[in-house]
Amino acid sequence: MKSHVKAVVIGGGVVGCSVLYHLAKAGWTDIMLIERSELTSGSSWHAAGGFHTLNGDPNVAKLQAYTVQLYKELEEISGQSCSLHLTGGVMLADSPERMDFLRLAHAKGRYLGMDTELITPSEAKSMFPFMDESHFVGAMWDPVEGHLDPSGTTIAYSKAAKKLGAEIVLRNPVKDLTQQPDGTWNVVTEQGTIHAEHVVNCGGLWAREIGRMVGVELPVLAMEHMYLLTEPMPEVEAFNKETGREMVGVLDFKGEIYTRQERNGILLGTYEKACKPWSPVNTPWDFGHELLAPDLDRIAPSLELGFKHFPGIANAGIKQVINGPFTFAPDGNPLVGPVQGLTNFWVACGVMAGFSQGGGVGLALSNWMVNGDPGFDVWGMDVARWGEWASLRYTNAKVRENYSSRFSIRFPNEELPAARPAQTTPLYDTMVAQNAVMGDSWGLETPLWFARKGTEPKDVVSFHRSNDFEHVGNEVRATRNSVGVTEIANFAKYDVSGSGSEDFLNRLMTNRMPKKGRIVLTPMLNEKGKLIGDFTIAKTGDEKFMIWGSSAAQKYHMRWFEQHLAKDGSVRIHRFDQTLVGLSIAGPNSQKLLAKLVDVDVSSKAFRFMDFREMAVGGAPCMVNRITYTGDLGYEIWMAPSYERLVYAEIKKAGEEFGIVDFGMRALLSMRLEKNFPTWFRELRPIYGPFEGGMDRFIKMDKNDFIGRDAAAKEFSDGPKLRRVSLIVDAVDADVMGDEPIWAKVSGRDFGTVGKTHEFGAPRFDASGAEIRGSEAATGASAVRGLHDGEWSVVGWVTSGGFAHYVEKSMAQGYVPAELANDESEGLFEIEILGHRRKARINVEAPFDPAGEKMRG
Ligand SMILES: Cc1cc2nc3c(=O)[nH]c(=O)nc-3n(C[C@H](O)[C@H](O)[C@H](O)COP(=O)(O)OP(=O)(O)OC[C@H]3O[C@@H](n4cnc5c(N)ncnc54)[C@H](O)[C@@H]3O)c2cc1C
Repeated sequence: MKSHVKAVVIGGGVVGCSVLYHLAKAGWTDIMLIERSELTSGSSWHAAGGFHTLNGDPNVAKLQAYTVQLYKELEEISGQSCSLHLTGGVMLADSPERMDFLRLAHAKGRYLGMDTELITPSEAKSMFPFMDESHFVGAMWDPVEGHLDPSGTTIAYSKAAKKLGAEIVLRNPVKDLTQQPDGTWNVVTEQGTIHAEHVVNCGGLWAREIGRMVGVELPVLAMEHMYLLTEPMPEVEAFNKETGREMVGVLDFKGEIYTRQERNGILLGTYEKACKPWSPVNTPWDFGHELLAPDLDRIAPSLELGFKHFPGIANAGIKQVINGPFTFAPDGNPLVGPVQGLTNFWVACGVMAGFSQGGGVGLALSNWMVNGDPGFDVWGMDVARWGEWASLRYTNAKVRENYSSRFSIRFPNEELPAARPAQTTPLYDTMVAQNAVMGDSWGLETPLWFARKGTEPKDVVSFHRSNDFEHVGNEVRATRNSVGVTEIANFAKYDVSGSGSEDFLNRLMTNRMPKKGRIVLTPMLNEKGKLIGDFTIAKTGDEKFMIWGSSAAQKYHMRWFEQHLAKDGSVRIHRFDQTLVGLSIAGPNSQKLLAKLVDVDVSSKAFRFMDFREMAVGGAPCMVNRITYTGDLGYEIWMAPSYERLVYAEIKKAGEEFGIVDFGMRALLSMRLEKNFPTWFRELRPIYGPFEGGMDRFIKMDKNDFIGRDAAAKEFSDGPKLRRVSLIVDAVDADVMGDEPIWAKVSGRDFGTVGKTHEFGAPRFDASGAEIRGSEAATGASAVRGLHDGEWSVVGWVTSGGFAHYVEKSMAQGYVPAELANDESEGLFEIEILGHRRKARINVEAPFDPAGEKMRG
């Protein structure tokens, strides 16, 4: 065993072995994997081995597609079979809502280069004859699904890594981790201490315990999971013989069941409502290659329904019931990346679908470690997406909620109830008393909209316009016509101070820093010139700045800020979180309202658009920005939480004469739509360049050098390939939700398909399963088949949208090829909403106050 290596990977499950392989492939061969016992001594050995590409997050779906694509390469390099069965799979819809859900997934698949197909229940039955089609209304076929041998696959990764020079040490538990003053690590193991520059926690079932070695409580929890294997069934053999192919995998949402052929029998697993965490506080170190006791009573309700849906399986003899634990993060997606606050400590854990995701996780993490950037948009699995509020108890509640609703329909306006409220502001009770429908904004209760007094403040969940529509519309109109107030405590807030603060911000941000008392808007880029942040910055003192940004990105941004802080202590950065809260007032009467609350001149001459001032509002010391995301005349007022109730009460009292209304986040987002304003994590993400994102006026090439400047300059000189656009949509009763494909009538014009824009197109498998219908989608040429329809092609995708209530239009934002971005012709675009292609037209100028006269006042 070596005593010094560049990186130690802890854990020899499928994820650790994939990380090791990808690091070695990227050129880091001085690396070591340390396994407590034998390889696959956690969840990996008893997995059901299923894999698929579909995921609610398109960027995670792409990494899943990469994983599936990788297996052939892995077999070739390692010489080890993964026992790959690319059977394809069907998802069954039992209701019109579930069919809408499948239509959405199908449409999303189009721009990801997936060739899914909507089919009838009897077509599904022809691929899986055990089902009773009378329980279903439709289905979706996905050719890139199948199953493999979990142990063989893990060993294939390890053999491939070893061939590239990596070392694997077995039967050697890591006991402790201590960081050295230079940021390197001493990895204390049973067989001695290894000095490593980097440590990667791939501890699977023990990832939480490894996190604790460095003082981090990772939000992961293991759940018991059961599947059963039947005795060989003659019907299976007969089907194989007759059709010359294997039965496909089936997912039955209603029955909470997945099932497929396993050898000559059937494998059937459940995600039952009455789920059970395993070792919720501490994972025992002596657990290894063993199973948990089966508990058929717990899954009996699912089995009962399942056997009704699949009567052909009901009478088969059960050969074995597997019950094993595996880990989940609160939202079911992996935890990947460097941990904020630590140096060179990386995680790749909480991977609940190691055989769908392990390859993508390994690739992203190795890119990140070797090149300083994951290379893709991995926000959906970034460990930084959880804040301090994601405690052990929070994780327990959320993971149980996620597991038990894994096969439930998730609606775009659905707020999940578990572990809430976590954080509240001093106004929480007031908002609830005013019948606010509250939402979870990065762990903070935030008003979404206000229901009528005497009615239950609750969303009716739907893919269509719902019960909030009328109320959000009223909030928007009242604000735009007079004045409204909303709580904005959920924004991220930081202050940066010290003699080096201006240079620090100038190096990180693309815009020039403001003069004292002024505000700028500025994107932030990574080295590749992609968007990694979008901020409002005010210069609040000679060596002092305030920054506001996206709430959900607080750890993500702190990690980046800390990585770039000067070592000499000349810059200090502080994240306020909920120690600073805010209210926004907006609308044409907001200036008159503010004037009543302060003792200083706030006329448009004295307090201009984009000015910052400290002033007492209603007697409370506040920071006030003359800016609002509604795009109206308006102000953001920031204060310590102890003053929030006072300031709110004074605003409401002074606003009475103007008929002030409370408005929620939904109204705010509706108003920003009609101003063509983008949002972080929807329109602005690390897969887009600043010119693609339409941030041109905030990129100052002639200021000092800044991170990403050269790449941005190249994007500018080459011309962006894509452009963010706003479209007006002929929607009927459902608006876009995000991720819908944008079609254009562009016959004969080749924009390269979206597959070229995204890093991965369709997964490619040349030979496998060629006889199964739809499987030719796995070839490169047909990967774009679903992207064309006569003269129409899918040319882009929606990032977000909804109903813009003031201008009374359904609107969408999204990305299309740059050549089309200024083409406002009627009949050029269509957006696919719930299976219907709706006409859409680009709107280059914002439909509300395009010249910005109102907000300038
Ligand atoms: C019943 C069941 C069915 C499943 N079906 C599927 C499926 O069909 N498809 C799918 O994709 N996934 C499935 N899974 C999930 C899958 O098993 C996991 O996603 C995957 O195994 C996670 O791999 P891992 O490497 O992260 O963790 P693990 O497999 O838990 O590996 C972690 C490794 O780290 C080692 N380790 C921990 N601590 C230390 C230490 N201090 N020192 C040294 N070594 C240490 C452990 O010994 C272990 O070998 C299933 C899981 C179960 C339980």
